[in-house]
Amino acid sequence: MGKYIGPKCRLCRREGVKLFLRGDRCYSPKCALQRRPTLPGQHGRFRRRLTLYALRLREKQKLKRIYGVREEQFRRYVEWAKEFKGVTGEALLKFLERRLDNVVYRAGFAVSRAQARQLVSHGHFLVNGRVTNIPSYLVEEGDIIEVKPQSKEKLKAFIREIANRRPVPSWLTRDLEGLRVQVNAEPTLDELEHAVDTSLIVEYYSR
Ligand code: SF4
Repeated sequence: MGKYIGPKCRLCRREGVKLFLRGDRCYSPKCALQRRPTLPGQHGRFRRRLTLYALRLREKQKLKRIYGVREEQFRRYVEWAKEFKGVTGEALLKFLERRLDNVVYRAGFAVSRAQARQLVSHGHFLVNGRVTNIPSYLVEEGDIIEVKPQSKEKLKAFIREIANRRPVPSWLTRDLEGLRVQVNAEPTLDELEHAVDTSLIVEYYSR
């Protein structure tokens, strides 16, 4: 399955919840879901009752779209999570939270995960002193992620402006002077920005 390049707001309307894919616009009255809370398409005004399969599928699509992950990669996270001790759904969320593009976003260095992904893939970030341009890179406890010295001047004002408006989860420590963030612990799930029923997702992949 290729990359989705259509309108992002359509994805929120499809899922019926805000996925926060467009940065500041999502917090403004211009949010498409606020203005038109119907399903996309000609018959969008009619919401049908979902079957159990459709409920599971929608929950899976929602989580995938929040983190901007493609199907193959998402399936891989589910497989890894199943091998993990403990609750599979929680392990899945922790994998997603540990992605480098997500950490850059959660640290308040980008307005959306898509923008964080672009900044990472353009090589603006170092992980433990090494340029890392792989958005799916999984950070570990103790890792230090910082803006590359050559990019600091360019990104400083932009990042400080966004970061001041964004709280940072307790598992990250942000240093806005150094444009750096440290991973203190594994991600805590009570600080997630979205409510997702991961049991439906695990059931979807266990069919
Ligand atoms: Fe979704 Fe609203 Fe943001 Fe568009 S503006 S991506 S509908 S939350």
